[in-house]
Amino acid sequence: MRIPTLAIHLDRNVNSDGFKPNTQTHLVPLLATAIKAELNKTPAEGGEHDGGKKCAETSSKSKHHPLLMEIIANALGCKPEEICDFELQACDTQPSILAGAAKEFIFSGRLDNLCMSFCSLKALIDATFSGSDLEEESGIRMVALFDHEEVGSNSAQGAGSPVMIDAMSHITSCFSSDTKVLKKAIQKSLLVSADMAHALHPNFMDKHEENHQPKMHGGLVIKHNANQRYATNAVTSFVFREIAEKHNLPVQDFVVRNDMGCGSTIGPILASSVGIRTVDVGAPQLSMHSIREMCAADDVKHSYDHFKAFFQEFTHLDAKLTVDV
Ligand SMILES: [Zn+2]
Repeated sequence: MRIPTLAIHLDRNVNSDGFKPNTQTHLVPLLATAIKAELNKTPAEGGEHDGGKKCAETSSKSKHHPLLMEIIANALGCKPEEICDFELQACDTQPSILAGAAKEFIFSGRLDNLCMSFCSLKALIDATFSGSDLEEESGIRMVALFDHEEVGSNSAQGAGSPVMIDAMSHITSCFSSDTKVLKKAIQKSLLVSADMAHALHPNFMDKHEENHQPKMHGGLVIKHNANQRYATNAVTSFVFREIAEKHNLPVQDFVVRNDMGCGSTIGPILASSVGIRTVDVGAPQLSMHSIREMCAADDVKHSYDHFKAFFQEFTHLDAKLTVDV
């Protein structure tokens, strides 16, 4: 499918007035043209498909064109009539590439937030299988990846759901039925909320606070916000920074300009619902939420190294911070 833009010749003011599509009428993707008339038919007028012994009569088949159903069925390796229902999303199919004169950039869709998902998961796996690390580990290393962050996290499986506390509760109950274990685990845990950050854009320098301008190649960005749009505090940023220092990794800080609105992440949602100390971080990138985003290739390595070091060293480092009274 493709959503073609209107040629500039037919919309002369697009550069001065901005690209303002009507999201209802201007963003319909084109699937095919030979069957355009067919597509415009209501289900009652035609577009019927023979067969159909399972779900099709009452669900998908009657609502969607047979050609679309056939494409989906082919991709799934089943018959169209075997599809009861589906959730379908259009996304860019161009593969990611290394680019820039020195091949220092990654151009890709959905870096936000596949990049942090990839780095954290790979770091968890590699930290777990390297050497005798786990023999000295008294904590549980964990990565939690949530759906629906971009639409507010309020869903059955989003960060606003009980999934996180339930998972921690199940894990701690494997060790003891005493509910104090869960409370203790929450107190001793540190959550790294990893979601991509905005790098300084060379064409829009005034969009960043003068003294907090994260740069590509500059390593993970620790995000701070007094209004708690990010959950970082002095202790959690210290821990994260300390790990960087020990491993010679670059790290930078971000606060939004006082005259601009601040984004947010699942960090404050999880910090406030579960009660875990949290640091909000992310790799710097440009063009966030564009169909083609970009980041620096070496920041992927910086992020991976930083997360891996966090998994390997947090328990030990935190023991030094905590004073028993
Ligand atoms: Zn986002």
